[in-house]
Formats: sequence, C-alpha cells, structure tokens
Amino acid sequence: MTFAIHGLTVSRGVAIGRAVLVASSRVDVAHYFIDADQVEAEIARVRAGRDAVVEEIHRLQQNIAHMGPKEAPPELTALLDVHLMLLQDAELIGGVKHWITDRLYNGEWALTTQLEIIVRHFDEMEDAYLRERKADMEQICERILRAMKGAASPMVAHTSRAVRKASQQDLLLDDTVDVPLVLIAHDLSPADMLQFKQSVFAGFITDVGGKTSHTAIVARSMDIPAVVGARTSSQLVRQDDWVIIDGDAGVVIVDPSPIILAEYGFKQRQGELERGRLQRLLHTPAVTMDGEKVQLLANIELPEDAPAALKAGALGVGLFRSEFLFMGRQGRLPDEEEQYRAYRRAVESMQGLPVTIRTVDVGADKPLDDSVRDDAHLNPALGLRAIRWSLADPAMFLTQLRAILRAAAHGQVHLLVPMLAHAREIRQTLAHIDQARAMLDSKGVVHGPVKIGAMIEIPAAALSLSMFLKHFDFLSIGTNDLIQYTLAIDRADESVADLYDPLHPAVLRLVADTIAECRAQGKPVSVCGEMAGDVSLTRLLLGLGLRSFSMHPAQILAVKQEILRADTSKLAPWAQRVRTAEDPVLAMASA
Ligand code: PEP
Ligand code: MG
Repeated sequence: MTFAIHGLTVSRGVAIGRAVLVASSRVDVAHYFIDADQVEAEIARVRAGRDAVVEEIHRLQQNIAHMGPKEAPPELTALLDVHLMLLQDAELIGGVKHWITDRLYNGEWALTTQLEIIVRHFDEMEDAYLRERKADMEQICERILRAMKGAASPMVAHTSRAVRKASQQDLLLDDTVDVPLVLIAHDLSPADMLQFKQSVFAGFITDVGGKTSHTAIVARSMDIPAVVGARTSSQLVRQDDWVIIDGDAGVVIVDPSPIILAEYGFKQRQGELERGRLQRLLHTPAVTMDGEKVQLLANIELPEDAPAALKAGALGVGLFRSEFLFMGRQGRLPDEEEQYRAYRRAVESMQGLPVTIRTVDVGADKPLDDSVRDDAHLNPALGLRAIRWSLADPAMFLTQLRAILRAAAHGQVHLLVPMLAHAREIRQTLAHIDQARAMLDSKGVVHGPVKIGAMIEIPAAALSLSMFLKHFDFLSIGTNDLIQYTLAIDRADESVADLYDPLHPAVLRLVADTIAECRAQGKPVSVCGEMAGDVSLTRLLLGLGLRSFSMHPAQILAVKQEILRADTSKLAPWAQRVRTAEDPVLAMASA
C-alpha cells in the first residue's frame, strides 16, 4: 500500500529505488557490488568468517572446560551454545546467500542487510527470552564482520550501474534488474556520510537531523536527493521496499503505485533536463544586470572534492571543512605530513585559485568518531567546539597550522578560524599562527603567506565587528551556526526545525550589519553557510551588498542564474525594507 512520510528537504531532485535499511553503526561497512562470477567466492568469504568465529567459540569452550564454576559460570557456557546455534541459523545463512546471489551485494553488506531483517523479527516477538536473542545475533554478526576484515575481497564498485537512474520501465519490469538503492537509517553521522561518498546509494533518508545538520550538508555536497527528520521512516519502511525520495518537497513515498511512479519518473527527468540547461552558464561570468561582479566559491569537505568544485565553475574554495580529515579515525589524528599533503592536494587541484582552509571544527554534531559522541556534556554545541577545542590542545593546533602554512607555498591559501567570540581567543589564535610560522622558520621548512580570516557565526562576534575587522584580513559569515545561536535552535534537531529561520529579523540584521561594516572598511566578506547556496535567498543577499558566496559546487550554476537576472540597484532598497520588516517573508514577496 502506498504511503508518504514527511521530513525536511536536504537536497533537491528525485530518487527512485529500493530501500536498504542500515543501522548507523553498520553504515561503515563497505557497500559495493560484486561481479556475477564472484558470487561463489563471496559466499565462501562470509562462510570463512563464520567458520573463524565458530572455531573461536570452540576454543573458548575448551578453555572453559578446564575452569572452575567461579571463572566460568554456567551462563557463559550456555551463551556460547546459543552463539553456536545462531551461527547455524538458517534465516541468517539463507538471507546472506540471497543478497549475494540475487543482488550481488558484497559479503559485509549482505550480512548487515540480513541482520537488519532478523533484528526486526526479534523486535516483533512476544517472547521476552527470544527477544533478547537479538543482542546475541548482533554480536555474532559483528564478530563475523571482524573476522572478515582480514579477508577483504577486491573492491569492485559498480557505482555507475547502481546509481543509474531507473527508468519507469525498469521499475515496472523485472525485479532483478539493477536499480538504484536508497539508504534508510535512523541517524547518520558526518563520518558515516564520508563513507557514503564512495558508495553506491542514489539517495538517503534519516529519521533524525535538521536541514543544516552536518549530515545534511554532506548530503548536499554529494548532490543526491535526501530527506532528513523523517521521524519513523526506518521503522515504517521495510528492506527492499520501493521508495521515491522527493528531495524538493522533503517527502518519501513508499511502495508507490504505477501512476505515482510515472509522475515522479517524469519529475526526475525534468530535473535532469533543468540541470543540463544550467550547464550552459558554466563559462558565463557571474555579473549582475547592472554590472556588479560576484564571486562564486565552493565549500568542500575533502581534497578530492576540489576537482568537482573547479568543474562546477567555482572561482576558488571559500570553505574547506578540514575537520573531515580528522573524523572516523578512532582517535588517531592526522599528523603534520598527512595534513600537509591533503591541503597541498586541494591547493594544487584548484590551479592557482584561492583555497580557504578552515581550522578544525569538531564537536557538537561533528564528533571525531561515532563511538565518542559527546553525551557527557549537556550542550555540546555550546561546549568545547571548533577553535575552543584547538586552543585547548596547542600541540594539535600547531600541527595543523604548520601543515596549512606549508601548503600555502603551493598556491593561494586563506586560513579561516571558526567560532571565535572573545578578544582573548583572537589573540591566542594569532599568537599560535605566529608560533607555527616561527617553528617552520627555525627548521628551515618552506611555507607561504596566508590571509587570515574569522568566521562570524556567534552573535557575539557579529556584535563586535570592529574587534574582528582590526585583526583579520577577511570575514566569512557562517549562517548555519549564526542562526542556531541567535535563535537558540539546535540545527540538528528536527523537532525544532520549523523555528530554524534564516529570515528572522534578528538573523538578517546580524548578516546585513556584518556585510555593511566590511564593505565600509573595504574588507572582503563572504557567506559560507547554507544560505549562500539557497537560490531563494540570492537576491536578498545581493541586495544586502554581498558579492562573495561560498556553497556546495552543485548549487553554483543555479545561484549564478539568479545573479545574471538580478539588478542590485533595484534590489538594495528592497533588501533594506526586508531587513527592517517585522515579517521579512511577507516583505520579500512584495518585490
Ligand atoms: C556555518 O556555521 O555556517 C558554517 C559554514 O560552518 P559549519 O556548517 O561547518 O558549522
Ligand atoms: Mg559553523
């Protein structure tokens, strides 16, 4: 039966595919397709993993046999018997074989997919004892996965096949054709999303998350349709259900009828045509009708994103979120050499165009590792985040600064500092930069000049601009956090998402004043939060005087189209009216 789930829009477009339900902790297993002639070998690989676990348990049982009841309580013996029994479970074995043989999933993916199905069955059981076996099943699967780690099969990523847009024909024909897959999880961390960048999924849906949560931001950068904050989607949708993601409306349609499929197939093709049309603007300079030049820059997460930024026509990188180099590494942070190589790769990829490297901004909804989510602090977004974290660990901060300064010898580098608010933090940050330079000098290591900028993303910063303008070469407005902190709305919490409002008069005032003050003092200013890539806000930001926008590469051409149609001499008085209106949304409508 067809039904719809409503969530929040993240990235535009339509995806149609089969649901793959994954617990977030299991997202970081590899997801790829194998070749048909690898099926037997892949099944054998899972079997070998399982056999290794069986052997491990047998060894444990033998050891236990020599122990007394104190060291080896009977419960442990019974538990091992249960685990051995579950390792032979027909539903597990049969399911894994099915996913490998019929869907050509790699072994790990097949195992976690089948585990999700079994876990659901356990959840539905009346019998409390049987329900508790769920944890045992999860344990043995985790152990098989671990055992398989040593025997990874060669990665054969048939991404193009998997993400190929299924035509309506495909969907109505044979079930066994390759169709896109849509990932559904309760939650995905930004680190999960990184794994995702190389994966085969054509879209994703999460139960939780806000529009500007970092998970949503990475999804936008991947330019695949996605919906977050879809509440109970991971419970309502079943493995392998057909789903449609309408990224523009933030709606998920489950088990669509042929008529609905046809409708969305049409919408999908329209979207593709529209994107194709925008390509014509690729080499057109971003200049308004009244001759104002606008700089369009890209936000990137990894050096590997830089070529896509160039390809999309970006005139530089306005925000390289360096923290993504630090995530999902089980606490082992990248050393100076590794960071230097990464920054240098980004700088060289941009072929002489500027690259703005932001110093690490972990914390809040960007934990270093999923396993170290910050539950210890009540308000991680107000805690030891971004520059506060860097200043709390000078050795780590200096390592990053040295790496950035060294990369600056290979091209134009701007160094951007997140979350500053206090004069003391500014002084300490600048002193660290001087110290990093001096350390390199003392060792005769080559480094280059950098322009130093601050993010304006805390209201306190926006309200003490003169202090920032005195110390920095440029400012970049982080509207995602500026909105969060001005309105006291957790940007990652879908339950208050309706209150997260870029057009609140207070937000507009802070943004407008920052732009105006920078312009008055001749200091470059850009917006690098999600507002910059939102085409519905392009005219307003232009009217407020903004001439530098940094956004996901996928948004650049659509924003450029708005710029080409704009006349800033007319937009300026209108934008001032919007800025001072009690209801800016209404005021915007009265052009
Ligand atoms: C912002 O806060 O607007 C920003 C660009 O930084 P991030 O989204 O990484 O916090
Ligand atoms: Mg921020």
